[in-house]
Amino acid sequence: MSYTVALTGGIGSGKSTIANAFAAKGVDIVDADVIARQVVKPGEPALAAISERFGKEIIQPDGTLDRAALRQRVFSSPQEKTWLNALLHPLIHSETRRQLALARSVWCLWVVPLLVENNLQHLADRVLVVDVDRETQLTRTMARDNISREQAEHILAAQATREARLAVADDIIDNGGAPDEVAARVALLDQRYRQLAGATDRD
Ligand code: ADP
Repeated sequence: MSYTVALTGGIGSGKSTIANAFAAKGVDIVDADVIARQVVKPGEPALAAISERFGKEIIQPDGTLDRAALRQRVFSSPQEKTWLNALLHPLIHSETRRQLALARSVWCLWVVPLLVENNLQHLADRVLVVDVDRETQLTRTMARDNISREQAEHILAAQATREARLAVADDIIDNGGAPDEVAARVALLDQRYRQLAGATDRD
């Protein structure tokens, strides 16, 4: 298992953009959002369990999970949300461990949007937070997802605060400037993580 750096940040802060920049340097990426979708793919036991609990209307005609419908169902019921989390969290956890164990680059980047919300920071060797101010976050999210300010504010309100994320950061990338300003910081952090990985005794 490679030395693991968790990358987190609020919606629209630039996690995907920065993960791509690290990937271009040969860093293996493990993506929490991808894993969350993998564990409920058609054929997975979790999808059958969800369908049994919530009914066939939670499955789309193509056999995949209707994530919006499921979100709606658990939104209005804390009990159902607890049930769903109890089902999915252990599966996500073990798939994450499996993928991290497969990483072959000197260090690997684990992209976890909800690191702070789910208190997962202890699973990484180091935490890197992408930081932008609230206004930048709102503007970029609205433009990317074609949503209103109100919708973007609603999503932000459900996430950890900027302060809570910064409180668990070992390193910070300020992504408030132009994209090329971040490139130098990414290169520097890659060097640093290579050194740290080399200095850390792994199996
Ligand atoms: P996240 O993965 O954290 O939700 P993204 O990487 O998708 O965020 O970035 C959000 C949006 O902002 C995307 O449309 C992206 O192209 C854009 N973006 C990212 N970094 C910058 C930057 N430094 N300057 C301008 N736009 C940016």
